[in-house]
Amino acid sequence: MKKDCVFCKIASREIQANIVYEDLDVIAFLDINQTTKGHTLVIPKEHHQTYLATPQNLMHSVMDVAQKIGQAQMKQLLARGVNIIINSYPSAGQVIPHFHVHVIPRYDHTDGLSIEMVEKTKPDFNLPVLASEIRKGL
Ligand code: 5GP
Ligand code: ZN
Repeated sequence: MKKDCVFCKIASREIQANIVYEDLDVIAFLDINQTTKGHTLVIPKEHHQTYLATPQNLMHSVMDVAQKIGQAQMKQLLARGVNIIINSYPSAGQVIPHFHVHVIPRYDHTDGLSIEMVEKTKPDFNLPVLASEIRKGL
């Protein structure tokens, strides 16, 4: 548990949240800002700053729960789709530095959320070289 971490405090029940699921390692609760109806956050109870910094087994457990929550949103809330979003580090929009998965049910294109993958491929990106750079890090 990290002092002053909001999500550690939710996991330890110091801060109230609307809990959807809990087991030994993982807890899921409604996001305080409901981007769409049912927007849920899934976190490991243990503090790890980001997805990238979380031990693999624990990351897998969190992703298993995220899948179950998404399935439940489809079934119970009649969502027609689900976005799974993981922001890692502030440059990627992470505000709370405790690994969390956003599981966001989608209803239709007027449900208030817009995620756009604008094509940014520029002719000066050398794709074979880029792919090789990433491979070197694996
Ligand atoms: P991030 O931008 O770090 O990926 O997302 C953090 C999310 O945590 C935001 O969607 C925000 O609404 C949510 N959040 C922040 N503080 C609290 C809180 O105290 N309780 C709950 N339930 N959600 C929170
Ligand atoms: Zn924490």
